[in-house]
Amino acid sequence: MAKTALLIVDVQNDFCPGGALPVPDGDRVIEPLNCVVARAIHEKWFICASRDWHPRNSRHFVEFGGQWPAHCIQNTEGARFYPELYLPEELRIFSKGCAVSGLSREVDGYSAFDGRDQFSMTLRQTLPFRGVELLYVAGLATDYCVKATVLDACLIGYKTRVLINCCRGVERNEGDSRRAVMEMMRAGAEISFEPYDSMVMRIPRVQQRPQPSSRCATIR
Ligand SMILES: [Zn+2]
Repeated sequence: MAKTALLIVDVQNDFCPGGALPVPDGDRVIEPLNCVVARAIHEKWFICASRDWHPRNSRHFVEFGGQWPAHCIQNTEGARFYPELYLPEELRIFSKGCAVSGLSREVDGYSAFDGRDQFSMTLRQTLPFRGVELLYVAGLATDYCVKATVLDACLIGYKTRVLINCCRGVERNEGDSRRAVMEMMRAGAEISFEPYDSMVMRIPRVQQRPQPSSRCATIR
């Protein structure tokens, strides 16, 4: 059986109601996500979480030329995981968006694959080491960090399932989350309705056109 991992993206105080950059209904992911975490612990999945972990003067913030209000500043209450989120003790945490300056990807850190754990390892280095083949992704926000993470996972080649009931979007523009879901599906990700329903939605792979047999090919 394929080894499975659960990747929880950015379920932090600042992204939940009352935080500095709240995702509408961000805290609604907690209940279903806790069910998935319980299952993941029971089934011995590899469980990891990403977090935004910005320096105070990040170029990601409006004040320093970025597009977001200050949020998830390193070692602040806002950067903590949401307290009701059930996390295992041996959780592997990947911190991202830690750079003050540099490439915009490093500064923004939308994708969990841009993060590093306490040993300075990336997910790309860690997942193969754990023999992971199937990756479940959940968290905040559907249209930013979840999307960027899932697109990276698909690009690297993981069978990737988005736990859509455990995700919420920022929706800066109406329809952003829906468009993000389509983009993730086009990249090859599956949309899972667990823990409420075992249904999985995917875009069927394009059937390869039947190749003409060699005999046909020689007929002019
Ligand atoms: Zn951020």
